Formats: sequence, C-alpha cells, structure tokens
Amino acid sequence: MPATLLDGKALADEIRAEIAVAVRDFTSRSGVKPCLAAVLAGDDPASQVYVRNKQRACEQNGLTSRLHRLAAETTTDELLALIDQLNDDPAVHGILVQLPLPKGVDTTRVLDAVSPRKDVDAFHPENVGRIVQGRPLFLPCTPHGIQQILLRHKIPTAGAHVVIVGRSEIVGKPIAMMLVQKGPGGDATVTVCHSRSRDLPCITRTADILIVAIGRAKFVTADMVRSGATVIDVGINRTESGLVGDVDFESVRQVAGAITPVPGGVGPLTITMLLHNTLLAARLQTP
Ligand code: NAP
Repeated sequence: MPATLLDGKALADEIRAEIAVAVRDFTSRSGVKPCLAAVLAGDDPASQVYVRNKQRACEQNGLTSRLHRLAAETTTDELLALIDQLNDDPAVHGILVQLPLPKGVDTTRVLDAVSPRKDVDAFHPENVGRIVQGRPLFLPCTPHGIQQILLRHKIPTAGAHVVIVGRSEIVGKPIAMMLVQKGPGGDATVTVCHSRSRDLPCITRTADILIVAIGRAKFVTADMVRSGATVIDVGINRTESGLVGDVDFESVRQVAGAITPVPGGVGPLTITMLLHNTLLAARLQTP
C-alpha cells in the first residue's frame, strides 16, 4: 500500500490560521503589531523570491514586515551597522538576514550580531546553546516545521530511531538536538549521517523516521528505506523536470508508511514557523 502523504501545505494553512488568531489577540491587548525586518543583500533571484514570500506571509497573517535592501558590494561593516540599528529599534521584533550574503561578507560576524531576542532564525550561538540545553528561546524554522509535522500527524518519536542524513547548521544538527530532548516531539534515539558516513543504506534502513537534508536530487531510493518508515524530505532541488526532493518520491512511497512530498511538504512549514517566531519575539519584547 502506498505511503500516507504528509501534506505540508494543509498543515501550514492550519498553523497559520492559529497564528493569525494569536497575532490579532496579542495586538488588540498590547497595541503592538509584530514586525519582521528582512535584510537582503545582493541580487540573488532565489533570495528575492524567498524574502518576498516571507513578507507576503507576514502581511496575510496580521504581522508587518520591512525590507532592507543592500547592494551586492555591501561590506561586513555596513551590514553590522544596519543590524545594530535594527537591534536598537523597538518597532522591530524579529530580524531575518537572508542567506547567502554576498561574497566577501563575513556571514558569521553578521549573524552573531543579531540580538538573541530578535534572532527569529535561531542561528545565534546563544540560541543554539539554549536548544542543546533543552531551554530554547526560539526553535529554528525548518527543524521546528519538521517537528510539527511529526507531532500533528501523531507520529511517535519517543523511543523511535530517527536517522538524519545531512549535518548542516540550519537543518541536520538542530533537528537532531531537538529530537533528542525529553518531552513531546522528542525522546528519540538519533543517528546523524553525512558524506563521510560508511554504508549509509545500512544505517537508513534501521530508521523508524528518516529525515533527509542533503541537497541531492532523488538520492534516497526505496532500497534505503525500511518498510513502514516515516520519510521526511527536506531537499529542494531544481532539475529539468521541475522541483524535486532528496528522496526518490515515486519509488520510496511504495515502501514507506508516510512521506512528505516536494514541493508541498516541509517547505510551507518553514515560513510558517518564522511567523510563529516573530510573534514570540514580539511577546518577549513587550512588557
Ligand atoms: P547543506 O549545508 O547543503 O549540507 C548538505 C549536507 O548533506 C552536509 O552535511 C553533507 O555532508 C551532506 N551530504 C551531502 N552529500 C551526501 C551524501 N552523498 N551522503 C550523505 N550525506 C551527504 O545542507 P542544508 O542547508 O540543510 O540543505 C540541504 C537541502 O535542504 C537542500 O536541498 C536545501 O535546499 C534544502 N533545504 C530546504 C529547506 C526547506 O524549507 N524545505 C530549508 C533548508 C534547506 P558533509 O557535512 O560531510 O559535507
């Protein structure tokens, strides 16, 4: 029997509706409208689309957004000056620095300059440390979206073996840290794989839940998946035949128990959790 489809678009709509209600309630009580400031440096077309989508999602759900555009020749110092200004601006609650920054910019210095209380991407070392210690301020958007997919579809993580393929700072490492915490959506036994892992199929076949974030089109095939496993495909790859994930969807859906499609799986949840974090940031900064 083909796998159950984990529809990220429908789930994102459901969570956005909840956020819109919470924003309305917060604004009517406090008089404050949560505001996301997006920093976009350079003219990468994909980044422009991502920022536009994030701003549109803000507007559709009662939040405001601001766009700060900088030229491709922007320096690290100019970006640091802008971040300082946004950190000090009480009307700005969340700061989003769209990556990648132009060549020559020290990305780590720029991200580290964002105030931890406005760090809605949860990239700041203080926020990463808090996640590791199980007392997060913000959860990073894509991993939080993945956790919501598991929680809201009632896919048990407690005691489950979760295999994560990919060890990036934005997906692989933080989702591993989140799933290993005690409590709902956690208590998993986690294995993290990467390009140096030996005999990857042998490891992925032991997964109750397989999370793939490597950026290689259709890399995970049916023979790498245990029958009945839940498969979460984070990959976004542009190919001649359109957008595809890191999982060979057609073959894997024949063996998996549940699977996220691409597009329409993890992607819509990422922006949704950014809205969630912006509201959280506004609450944190409103007495
Ligand atoms: P990334 O920084 O591109 O790093 C890729 C990771 O995959 C690395 O840890 C790498 O291992 C590992 N890897 C590459 N080839 C491998 C192989 N053959 N076997 C095992 N591991 C391999 O990762 P990312 O930023 O998390 O992005 C991954 C994918 O997710 C991309 O397609 C990206 O577009 C997508 N993405 C989607 C969303 C969303 O909202 N849906 C959000 C973020 C990212 P090493 O560390 O050893 O090099």
